[in-house]
Amino acid sequence: MLDVRGLTKRFGSTEVLKGIDLAVRPQELVFVIGPSGSGKSTLLRCCNRLEEPTDGSIRFAGQELLAPKVDINAMRRRIGMVFQSFNLYPHMTARGNVMLALRKVLKLPRDQARAEADAALARVGLGDRAGHHPNALSGGQQQRVAIARALALKPEVMLFDEPTSALDPELVGSVLAVMRDLKADGMTMLVVSHEMRFAQEAADRVVFMDGGVIVEQGPPSQIFGAPTHERTRAFLSRVL
Ligand code: ATP
Ligand code: MG
Repeated sequence: MLDVRGLTKRFGSTEVLKGIDLAVRPQELVFVIGPSGSGKSTLLRCCNRLEEPTDGSIRFAGQELLAPKVDINAMRRRIGMVFQSFNLYPHMTARGNVMLALRKVLKLPRDQARAEADAALARVGLGDRAGHHPNALSGGQQQRVAIARALALKPEVMLFDEPTSALDPELVGSVLAVMRDLKADGMTMLVVSHEMRFAQEAADRVVFMDGGVIVEQGPPSQIFGAPTHERTRAFLSRVL
């Protein structure tokens, strides 16, 4: 589904990604962990070219994302992304925020956009909050609106960059529950997160990054239970 090969990214003379190989298969939930500055966000952002890779290849659904002629906006529609910050428009309701994406990106007529926005909000458990403005919603609810906004475009893969890091601990569960439901529905997901318990329970594969390389990867039982690299062990001993 998403096949990253030899991906490098330099900012000036600093090489932040040093040859990443990572394949995400359909319906797989791949979890990326690693210390601050290891390149996790840069990797995700390269996967929809919010960051321009320096070298390498990213194939998505059989097409080369880094090809010069690729219609990157068309590809981005198929690759949903959710960030730590929700980036909702404060003057618009939850429904309005989701509708805007549908109207701007998919050019849907208003009635259809409204129906699809409401369906997406229902999917994240906010069917009864569609008319609320962001400031009348909890952080967890706001993040679920952001997820609904991405889902409404019917992406084939979802990229999550620390979706729960800005939330109070008691609100984290509602967002993880939505991600769990997406997984159960067969969504393909690439997730950067520090929620190690969620990784153990929900991830098909855990990838440990450090210093711009993938140090090791494997099923959660292996990475958390029997990591083979000293750097992985040292990281896990700090965070677990
Ligand atoms: P965190 O866990 O703190 O979110 P991360 O693993 O997501 O860290 P990145 O944000 O990908 O790390 O950053 C990797 C490295 O790239 C860092 O050293 C960072 O300072 C550097 N970097 C990221 N974006 C830029 C940029 N636009 N210009 C220059 N350097 C950058
Ligand atoms: Mg990051």
